Amino acid sequence: MSQSVCILGATGSIGQSTLKILAQHSQEYSVFAVTAQSRLAELVEICKQYRPRFAVVPSSKVDELRQLLVAEQLADIEILADEAGLIAVASHSDVDVVMAAIVGAAGLLPTLAAVKAGKRVLLANKEALVMSGDIMMQAALDHHATLLPVDSEHNAIFQCLPQNYFQAERNGQPKLGVSNILLTASGGPFLNHSLEQLHSVTPAQACKHPNWSMGQKISVDSATLMNKGLELIEACHLFSIEEHFVTVVVHPQSIIHSMVQYVDGSTLAQMGNPDMCTPIAHALAWPERIQTHVPALNVFTHSQLNFVEPDTTRFPALQLARQAMKVGGTTPAILNAANEIAVDAFLKQKIGFMQIPAIVEQTLNQLAHQAANNLDVILQADAEARAIAQQLVTNKGS
Ligand code: NDP
Ligand code: MG
Repeated sequence: MSQSVCILGATGSIGQSTLKILAQHSQEYSVFAVTAQSRLAELVEICKQYRPRFAVVPSSKVDELRQLLVAEQLADIEILADEAGLIAVASHSDVDVVMAAIVGAAGLLPTLAAVKAGKRVLLANKEALVMSGDIMMQAALDHHATLLPVDSEHNAIFQCLPQNYFQAERNGQPKLGVSNILLTASGGPFLNHSLEQLHSVTPAQACKHPNWSMGQKISVDSATLMNKGLELIEACHLFSIEEHFVTVVVHPQSIIHSMVQYVDGSTLAQMGNPDMCTPIAHALAWPERIQTHVPALNVFTHSQLNFVEPDTTRFPALQLARQAMKVGGTTPAILNAANEIAVDAFLKQKIGFMQIPAIVEQTLNQLAHQAANNLDVILQADAEARAIAQQLVTNKGS
C-alpha cells in the first residue's frame, strides 16, 4: 500500500524537493496534505499535480485559495487554516509520513503534533528541535515516532552511526564506540571575507550560497554560520551528545556532508553531490533506498577536499549557539527567536549583517534562562526574546 505523506511547507525549497521525489515514486507515495504561507500560486500548481486531500494556508488566504482551486476544478480539496489546520493535517490518522519543512519557530507545534501522533517525521525544520529539543525527543520516544533527520549533515551522521545507536541509553555520551562527530560547514558565501567587508554585505549576496539553493532565512543563517550553530544544537538532541563531542569543520566543497569518529581510529564520512533530494529520499525510504535524479559523485572531479577550522571572530554566531547549548534550558529558544528577528530585519535592510549576531548576543544577555521543562515556558521565552530583539532592531535602525 502506498504511504500517505503530509508536507508542511510544501511551497518552500525542501517542500518542492520532496514533491519532486514523490513524483518519481508515485506508486509508493501519495500526497495527503500540503501547506503554504504566502505562495498561493505555487500551492495551486502543487494541488494540480498532486491532488492532495487537504491544503492549509493562513485564514486570511482561505477565500483566495478557494477561488483559485475552484477555477482549476479542484474544489474537492479541503482547505484548512492557520496553526490548527497545520496541526490537524500533521497528526491526521490517515497520514503515515510528515515532512516538517516549515521554516522557523512557526513549525514547532505542527512538528510536535506529528511526533505525538507517532508519525514517521522527516525533520528539516531545525528551529523546532533547537527550541524544544528535550521535549521533542522525549515525545518521539513516548509516542513511538520515527524522527529522521533531513538536514544533510545530520542525515549524513545518521548514515554513519551504528544501526543500533538509537536503542542505546540517551545520556549525553557518544555510545557504541562513537567518540566524536565532525559537523561539516561550507562556510557560506563570505568564507573569505574580511571583518570589514562583512559589515557591508547585502541580503542578495548573503542569499547566494555557493553550493546549495535554499530558502532566504537558512541562506542568511549559512552566511553568518548561525546555521551551523543551530545544527550543533540539533545534533546534540538528535544523537544525545553533549556539545563538546561535536567539532565543526569548514569544508567549502560540501561533498562530505559530515563524519563520525570511532574509538578505534576510524572516521566514517557520507559523501555525495550537494542536493537535498539525497537526504530527503534517504529519510523517506529508510531503511531502504530509493532512486533520485542526483547523479553519483564523480570523485575524479573532486580531487581536492579542504578542511579548516571556523573563524569565530568573523562568525561569532557559532560560538553563541555552542554556549547556548551548554547553558541549556530556554537559552537555545532565546537564541533562535532573536536570530529569526535579526535575520528578518537584515533581509529588510533594517540592520547590517554583523548586527545579526550582535542582536542575538544582546538578547541572550538581557533574558535570564530557565529550565525548559514544558512548552509554555519555551513559547514564553520565544515571545520575550522576539520583543527584545525587535526593540534592538528599532534602536539600531534609527
Ligand atoms: P523556504 O523559505 O524555502 O520554505 C519555507 C516554507 O515554510 C514555505 O512553504 C513557506 O510558505 C512556509 N512558511 C513560512 N513561514 C510560515 C509560517 N509562519 N507558517 C506556516 N508556514 C510557513 O525554506 P526552506 O525550504 O529552505 O527551509 C525549510 C526548513 O528546512 C528550515 O527550517 C530550514 O532550516 C530547513 N533546512 C533547509 C535546507 C535547504 O536546503 N533548503 C537544508 C536543511 C534544512 P510560503 O513559501 O508559501 O510562504
Ligand atoms: Mg544543513
